[in-house]
Amino acid sequence: MKIEVLGSSGGGSLGYNLSSFLIDETILLDAGSVINVLPVERQLKISGVFITHAHFDHIRDLPLLVDNFLGESKRSLEVYALKEVIFSLKDFIFNNKIWPDFTKIPNSKESILKFFPLKLNVTLNFQEYKVKAIPTKHTVPSCGFIIEKNGKRLFYSGDTGPDLELWNALKGIKFDVLITELSFPDKMEDIALASKHYTPRLLFKHIFTLEPLPDMIFIFHLKPIFRNLIIEEVEYYKRKYHVKNLSVLSDSEVIEF
Ligand SMILES: [Zn+2]
Ligand SMILES: [Zn+2]
Repeated sequence: MKIEVLGSSGGGSLGYNLSSFLIDETILLDAGSVINVLPVERQLKISGVFITHAHFDHIRDLPLLVDNFLGESKRSLEVYALKEVIFSLKDFIFNNKIWPDFTKIPNSKESILKFFPLKLNVTLNFQEYKVKAIPTKHTVPSCGFIIEKNGKRLFYSGDTGPDLELWNALKGIKFDVLITELSFPDKMEDIALASKHYTPRLLFKHIFTLEPLPDMIFIFHLKPIFRNLIIEEVEYYKRKYHVKNLSVLSDSEVIEF
């Protein structure tokens, strides 16, 4: 699998893109930053968008991505998410007020946008991939995704607060790559807990309960204004716990495994 980091930030700032990961040119995980990162020809190769939750930093580019399917492509853009997320997208974005209801354009049968509800803990076969939504603890209905192809396995957390249940659910599964969120520095633990996000202290406490440990661990969703401080803290904990296979993602990084 090849993962292109289109965006890895949990907030907006000059030079920092919102969360979006492209897998093998065809699967998009979250749609925070797509339209200004990928040329249109590559946008039109995306066949499935898997959305972890409806927060704006994970869906911002979805309306404009769909819009680009109007012209040249005969294909639909398929969006997979929990049913609550689909309701939010339909009610608040594709509602003919903020943006057109592309599930009816040009008509309901051959629309350029199609939504597919996901059930938690149920494996979906999507092309040659197996995708499973795993519940996470965030302020809105949310999930992470296990994605498998040819014996290779990825976990992408989306947003989640400190949640041992999540790591317990992943126990016993060998991951080649694990991408997990970390949003605030340790001094903002109160805000992190209230908004259901991780700090370095809490993440290092939880992630190493995983057994077996993933081959590679990547961290995303740092708030850009605290990025340098969070990286310093992550380096501190890496030294403290003798961890080598963990790094903070940057935009446009490519992970192949
Ligand atoms: Zn987010
Ligand atoms: Zn969120």
